[in-house]
Parts: sequence; C-alpha cells; structure tokens
Amino acid sequence: MSAHQKHKSPSVGDTFGLWTVGGKPISTRRGRLVPCCCKCGLQKDVCLTTLINGYSKSCHKCTSVRRGQAHTVACFWKKVRKTRGCWLWIGALTDKGYGNFWDGKRFTAAHVFSWELEHKQPMTFQGNHTCDNRQCVRPSHVYDGTQKQNMEDASRRGRLGRRSKKNE
Ligand SMILES: [Zn+2]
Ligand SMILES: [Zn+2]
Repeated sequence: MSAHQKHKSPSVGDTFGLWTVGGKPISTRRGRLVPCCCKCGLQKDVCLTTLINGYSKSCHKCTSVRRGQAHTVACFWKKVRKTRGCWLWIGALTDKGYGNFWDGKRFTAAHVFSWELEHKQPMTFQGNHTCDNRQCVRPSHVYDGTQKQNMEDASRRGRLGRRSKKNE
C-alpha cells in the first residue's frame, strides 16, 4: 500500500521550506500546481514537482532575501580571524575600537552581529564583552547586557579607575 509514497499529494498544512500547503493540487496544462502560502503571506500556485523536490522553498522575494543573508554572513566570516581564545575582527573598526560591519543595510557592531547570528534573535540591550577585547566577535565572549552591568563587570575586573596603572 505504502510503496509509492513518493507520488503522494501534499496535504493541507504540510510545509516545504517557507511554503505551507493551502489546498489540494490542481491539474493544469503545465502540470499539477499546489496552492501555497509563503511565510511572508504571499499566495502562489507552486508546481508540485519543484515543491516536492525542494527546488522551490519560498516566494521569489523571500528567496532573494535569504540568498542576500547567506552572502552577508559569508562576507562577515571573511573578516574574522579565529584564535584559540578570541575571534578577532580584522575588518573596519569604529573609533571606539569595535568591529564595524556593513550588513547590506546599515553598519552594525561586528560582535553584536555574530551574537545575533548565534542566538538567532536580536539583542535587547547591548553587546558586552567578558574578555575585555572590543575586537572580539566570539559569541561566547559576548553577552546581552545593560550598560550598568558592563560598568559593574569592568570595575570587578579592575578596568576602571586605574587605567594608568599597568602591571608589567
Ligand atoms: Zn515570501
Ligand atoms: Zn574574546
């Protein structure tokens, strides 16, 4: 009975990439089309074969956005030099010494970008370093904290107040 699952029609509610099936396949002269809704809300009849084979994962607009993101992420990592400890940003720096990264729309702090990439969510406060290295973009060396927490951390590590005093 279940030997030919391959040609089974997708059911309403099935997802293929960002597509959600919204109805039964329709037979047309161009082949069978499946009414789908992209995650962005766009509705389109998608060719059954391209859907099943995974060639079509979202509407054109979402596909180009995803490709743009992949490109942006690739550009980002080209500017990172990983050491056993910190991952150093070797691209442009802000005047405060933080990595400065053009994400395609705006400049963003490199350590915040990598943190958001790792955690798949935007930062609520600001990117504080646990390693005191502003050039570092290693997500595990960065946390989402307030300016107050950053100051407290800094004073705990003795960074503030004795800037001139260097232990040689
Ligand atoms: Zn879409
Ligand atoms: Zn670090």
